[in-house]
Amino acid sequence: MIGSDSTHFILIGQGLAGTLLHFFLSKGGQEAFVLDEPRPDAASRVAAGLMNPITGRKFVKSWRVDELLPAAWETYRELEAQLGLSVFYRANILRAWARQQDENQWLERSGWPGYEPYMLDEAELGQYARKLHPAHGYGEVTRSGRADLGRLVDAYREYLRSRELYREEAVDYSRFEKQADGRWQYGELTAGRVVFCEGYRAVFNPFFNHLPFRGAKGEVLIVHMPGAGFEKIVKQAGLFIVPLGEDRYWIGSAYQNQFEHTRPTPEGRARLEARLQQLVDLPYELLEHRAAVRPTVKDRRPFLGEHPQQKGLYLFNGLGTKGASLGPFFARQLAEHLLHGAPLDPEVDIRRFDS
Ligand SMILES: Cc1cc2nc3c(=O)[nH]c(=O)nc-3n(C[C@H](O)[C@H](O)[C@H](O)COP(=O)(O)OP(=O)(O)OC[C@H]3O[C@@H](n4cnc5c(N)ncnc54)[C@H](O)[C@@H]3O)c2cc1C
Repeated sequence: MIGSDSTHFILIGQGLAGTLLHFFLSKGGQEAFVLDEPRPDAASRVAAGLMNPITGRKFVKSWRVDELLPAAWETYRELEAQLGLSVFYRANILRAWARQQDENQWLERSGWPGYEPYMLDEAELGQYARKLHPAHGYGEVTRSGRADLGRLVDAYREYLRSRELYREEAVDYSRFEKQADGRWQYGELTAGRVVFCEGYRAVFNPFFNHLPFRGAKGEVLIVHMPGAGFEKIVKQAGLFIVPLGEDRYWIGSAYQNQFEHTRPTPEGRARLEARLQQLVDLPYELLEHRAAVRPTVKDRRPFLGEHPQQKGLYLFNGLGTKGASLGPFFARQLAEHLLHGAPLDPEVDIRRFDS
């Protein structure tokens, strides 16, 4: 921090949520100080970062996707320009139809008002046509893509370090003290407002763990598959194959509501490898096997807002399974709330659980 231990904002956690909130606060003229313990099981380091407008078995448009996607694209482009790297990639998603019923559902849905920009009935399979065990058929999702969240978070961390706005530290909640003037003290740091952005680990935060956090563990593989030449993303038999460039692919992922720990497991790896081998007949080398927990919430909506009693303590969490598309829009909304008192959307305000 530049020359002083007193700051307007302290952010706890620098995954996608902390990164994006910091970015919008800085754009609004406020440099926040960040404390973060960079853990290997942080969701942002494991996610594919897909932005998928059409989801689920019934091919439904994702919640508020018409506003979320343009906000996400704009934000990632601005971050790319600021940090001097690429993190955002446009790529269509091939959605396999397992049976005739799926095809009928797709064809019906693509005719609904508002769906046309996102769905193509005639999919172009490219290299998948020769190398993927064929499904009943395929539809193609457009206006989709991915953000390389791990690369973004790492690059932003270096930017924060260069500005002396970052300290690596596992925050001990018992050390927060409220001063007589209403400001919060943490060790030698003092701030008017503290925003917690700890992802799934918010369940250990005594100020906010009354909220209905859930958590869904996922395991993923990163494989090297030379010669596959896949360019689009494919979803077939519950598995995503996501091209990362240089013949590397993200393969995932499992979705577990019950789990004993956040580490990768031999069973998780075996399941993913078996499913991959059922889909493609190509040799591959396993580069990484990782696991993390998605910060999901009972009603599947983000968590934004101020603690009902402890004034000055805020939460930005609940990005769930769709952080890459939800994060930019709601980070901007929270920054505008913190800087200018703009209202929070009641659907995401943590006060919806006040009762
Ligand atoms: C397997 C998997 C696949 C996914 N795929 C997608 C996808 O394709 N598309 C998509 O949009 N989303 C996806 N997600 C979800 C996405 O990753 C999350 O929505 C998003 O990354 C959450 O970001 P976050 O900053 O809230 O949490 P995190 O990324 O977990 O970051 C929280 C940070 O806070 C730190 N922290 C926690 N507690 C403390 C403490 N006490 N002191 C200091 N630091 C602390 C953590 O170590 C971490 O650095 C996926 C998630 C998983 C697990």
